[in-house]
Amino acid sequence: MIARVIVDVSLDREFDYAIPSELADTVQVGSRVSVPFGHRHVAGYVIGLPATSAHDKLKPIHSLIGEKPYIDNTTLELARWMSEYYCATLEQCVRTVLPGAVRRKHRKFKQQRWVRVDQSSEGRDQRSENEKQQRILAILAENGGEMPLQTLLKVANVSESPVKTLAKHGAVAIESRDDIRNPLKHYNIIPTAPLPLMPEQAEALDLIISQLDTTIRKHRLPDGNRGSLSYKASSASRVVGRASRVPEGACTPPRPILIHGVTGSGKTEVYLQAIAHGLEQGKGAIVLVPEISLTPQTIERFQSRFGDQIAVLHSHLSDGERHDEWHRIRDGEARVVIGARSAVFAPVANLGLIVVDEEHEPSYKQAEAPRYHARDVAVMRGHFAGCTVVLGSATPAMESWSNARRGKYHMATLPRRADSRKMPAMRIIDMRIEAERTGHVNVFSKELLDAIQMRIDEGEQTMLFLNRRGFSSSLICPKCGFVSECDQCSVSHTYHRSEESLRCHICGGSQPVPAKCPQCGDPAFRFAGMGTQRVESVVKKCFPHARTVRMDADTTTRKAAYEEILGAFRHGKIDILVGTQMIAKGLHFPNVTLVGVVYADLSLHVPDFRAGERTFQLLAQVAGRAGRGDVPGEVIVQTYTPHHVAVQAARRLDFEGLCSEEIEFRSELHYPPAAHLICMTLKGKHEGEVKYCAEILSKRIRDSVGNAAIVSEACPAPLAKAKGVYRYQVITRSKSVRAVGTPLKGILAEFKLPRSVTVAVDVDAVDLM
Ligand code: ADP
Ligand code: ZN
Repeated sequence: MIARVIVDVSLDREFDYAIPSELADTVQVGSRVSVPFGHRHVAGYVIGLPATSAHDKLKPIHSLIGEKPYIDNTTLELARWMSEYYCATLEQCVRTVLPGAVRRKHRKFKQQRWVRVDQSSEGRDQRSENEKQQRILAILAENGGEMPLQTLLKVANVSESPVKTLAKHGAVAIESRDDIRNPLKHYNIIPTAPLPLMPEQAEALDLIISQLDTTIRKHRLPDGNRGSLSYKASSASRVVGRASRVPEGACTPPRPILIHGVTGSGKTEVYLQAIAHGLEQGKGAIVLVPEISLTPQTIERFQSRFGDQIAVLHSHLSDGERHDEWHRIRDGEARVVIGARSAVFAPVANLGLIVVDEEHEPSYKQAEAPRYHARDVAVMRGHFAGCTVVLGSATPAMESWSNARRGKYHMATLPRRADSRKMPAMRIIDMRIEAERTGHVNVFSKELLDAIQMRIDEGEQTMLFLNRRGFSSSLICPKCGFVSECDQCSVSHTYHRSEESLRCHICGGSQPVPAKCPQCGDPAFRFAGMGTQRVESVVKKCFPHARTVRMDADTTTRKAAYEEILGAFRHGKIDILVGTQMIAKGLHFPNVTLVGVVYADLSLHVPDFRAGERTFQLLAQVAGRAGRGDVPGEVIVQTYTPHHVAVQAARRLDFEGLCSEEIEFRSELHYPPAAHLICMTLKGKHEGEVKYCAEILSKRIRDSVGNAAIVSEACPAPLAKAKGVYRYQVITRSKSVRAVGTPLKGILAEFKLPRSVTVAVDVDAVDLM
């Protein structure tokens, strides 16, 4: 008997070990084992049970860690696919699919003592039982025959000794059970019922349900896989029952469903009802949301339908909580998982549905190796596990849109708000005219100031949005043009007035504001550009009696501050909320009737081919914050480029118009979605070395891929230096990832980079800085 094992050391190789006879019945694919490696024992995972090995004299596995397997077959398949597709090692990918808290901690759950009525003692002699003992038995009977010991003692108001006596007589049993921590147990949630759906919602739900009902697992479990988490046949009868709805070719993996629905169109309600349908069939679900949207508000909506069947995975969980949630999910106690990016790997048994909400969000891409995109991993997991995948967004990524257009995905459209409220009107203000009229550059146009004043008079709320924190982007010398820059990073400093400092937003370094220009000595240093702090201070000057609060990364360094500010805003204790990205996402405030975008151009003028798409997404997103109550909302967008496609498309909420323009220009330039883009970033302390390596890499790739890809010259990255490290990029564009990925692996394996230079390979990169 042979086990193929990958070990917990940084080697992209598999090793074969013999399975000793005493472990023959317990070792299976996914088992965690301890194996001899060199002169020590290391931990590893069994990834296969091959019949033969190319090596003889295999060392035996030392021992098994934990009883049940840690990785099921489809998860392992997923890890293999990730390793292949994202040019990462299998070991990195296995580490990614299994959270560190689960891998490192093999601690048992905390134990809790329970008391259970022993049914076999029915006919026992009850005459000797005193009043306390009878009370204990009565309370147990009222509580379904079992309770935690401590609770029982409190309720019955007794000490342990009568319980022990009962146990001695065989009337009850005292046993140790896992005390599972549930991070949600302190919430008290009022249950909600499914809403009657609008016709478009019903259509979307039908599409999902018909897949849920017909989904057939593509991969049969191989025989060698004894008892690992497998699919139960529980839903088989329903599949037969709905046979008339099976579309042709239903045995091929189901196609992902893209729900394109404006904000407030009721996508979440559709997810909730689809999940409920799956649960009835014993199928679990995963819901991915961007980390920033994982608010108590969101979790509550799911919990009010599904109660304790919910598990939440987010980055604020302690290791212990993460460990416990993972086990609750794997053991089938939690059937619906809500979480950010990495929740896509949650070990949900009999997984029926994966929902990726806000599927266009760049935060679904992981920045470290393996640099996977959780939406794409979800699609692949759906493929391997034969489950339904639903992608939802008001502004789908061009990649998803084009997949839907080409028939790779199904599409459902929800064009109007579910609560029959109107989408807010959007006004574009040309700030160039404003500047000409007043003779200087202002933070606010007259239109926006008037609109804010009107909301204050009416007792309504305003949100002002600027995608840059700090007071102004930089300090600039009007005489010699000197701009203060971070000497470790190739970006200008941001002025933070509250602490009178210049801060670098890349490395976080800060220094005091110089009294005079370091270059020419002129004392008249000026601010250029603006940030949230500046907006806040101008608002306070213009509206001294309004209650204005700023929310950005600087005011929410404390974990609770975010919730406090939002709570105060919700309760009407704030008139004007100034913020970054942070206030744009998924929040629902009925009394907000005005949203102002102070400077829309900030997101347009970045060196990224997705700048237009991102700007549209941002404008649509913030627009969704206005008019969620009874009074219609208004959105005012200030810009210096009012005729930009993204701005105009956003004004008309014309997503399709944006798509056709974008896709045309990207096809011409072979950018995604017309091609796959791989971005290699080389980093090192010595610029010459980095540049040289990048040049060699670019040349070698070009030599080996021929016409299959466009390979860029080695170039300094837009962020050319960060934290003292120089950064160069080589970017490839190709029809298939494999056309570059396969030769690239060979090149990287034999290309001996100097130790001081590293290379990061980012397949389908979303961050090109
Ligand atoms: P989305 O996820 O598309 O932004 P939501 O599901 O959050 O939309 O719905 C927006 C609002 O409309 C919520 O307050 C929700 O309760 C309500 N809603 C959703 N579906 C319906 C419906 N069918 N009838 C009435 N109200 C609905
Ligand atoms: Zn810096």
